[in-house]
Amino acid sequence: MPDPMRPRILAITNQKGGVGKTTTAINLGAALAALGERVLIIDLDPQGNASTGLGVFASDRDNTTYELLHEDAPLSSVVCRTSVERLDIAPATTDLSSTDVELGAREDRVFLLKDALASETAANYDHILIDCPPSLSLLTVNALVASHAVLVPLQAEFFALEGLSQLMLTLRDVRETANPGLRIEGVVLTMYDQRNNLSQQVEADARGTLGDLVLKTRIPRNVRLSEAPSFALPAMIYDPLSKGSQAYVDLAEEILARHARPREIA
Ligand code: ADP
Ligand code: MG
Repeated sequence: MPDPMRPRILAITNQKGGVGKTTTAINLGAALAALGERVLIIDLDPQGNASTGLGVFASDRDNTTYELLHEDAPLSSVVCRTSVERLDIAPATTDLSSTDVELGAREDRVFLLKDALASETAANYDHILIDCPPSLSLLTVNALVASHAVLVPLQAEFFALEGLSQLMLTLRDVRETANPGLRIEGVVLTMYDQRNNLSQQVEADARGTLGDLVLKTRIPRNVRLSEAPSFALPAMIYDPLSKGSQAYVDLAEEILARHARPREIA
């Protein structure tokens, strides 16, 4: 019987920009791939940063996530290889920014991505990571409807928790209407600076408010993570021993451990 949890689909979302969604999509994806998992990143942000950060220029491609959602292009025609083994991407262009306007009136508008992922191509992967835009727009709702769970990067800075209540309301809405099984995989602290009191305070607040939803792994502020995209590489490849890369391996292991299934005894 096909496993309904395979591929495991994770939306990486937070309506704030600049909190580390794309960095997490790229580097968690690369870390999972390094651990032997087959990973597809879906770039659902019209800015296309996950695509360019992996050296894929959507403007050179016939089909992108725009055609996937708007024109029923098959997933197989959108997926591109990256320079990382086992890591593929469905790239995005700025065209995608017209989604709310162009598709807002369609009755099936929140199911477009879910339908697009119900394909044999999707079944080739162990994990699908969706890099969401910085909004709670129709694109993000499509990601939430298509996903098993959400991973929320939280930048360890002032006002980090502000806006989370809005996201929680959206999650509740999606659960009540289109995806009752949607879970919160966790909140991951990003750009964490151990020496900074503010980082520690945000962590204490987040753990106090959200409890176990806050993952153990913290992603440190690390310059290698911000440099790597300009070399069109995940930090995992650009500098595998950097603190940033190591933290994303820890995150991948933490997430995998939660879903470890008992192995058959030989
Ligand atoms: P989002 O996708 O949420 O808008 P990004 O992942 O693009 O956020 O990150 C915003 C900026 O911060 C980018 O320039 C990125 O390189 C940088 N950045 C993200 N995470 C880290 C980190 N842990 N350490 C240093 N820089 C980071
Ligand atoms: Mg982004």
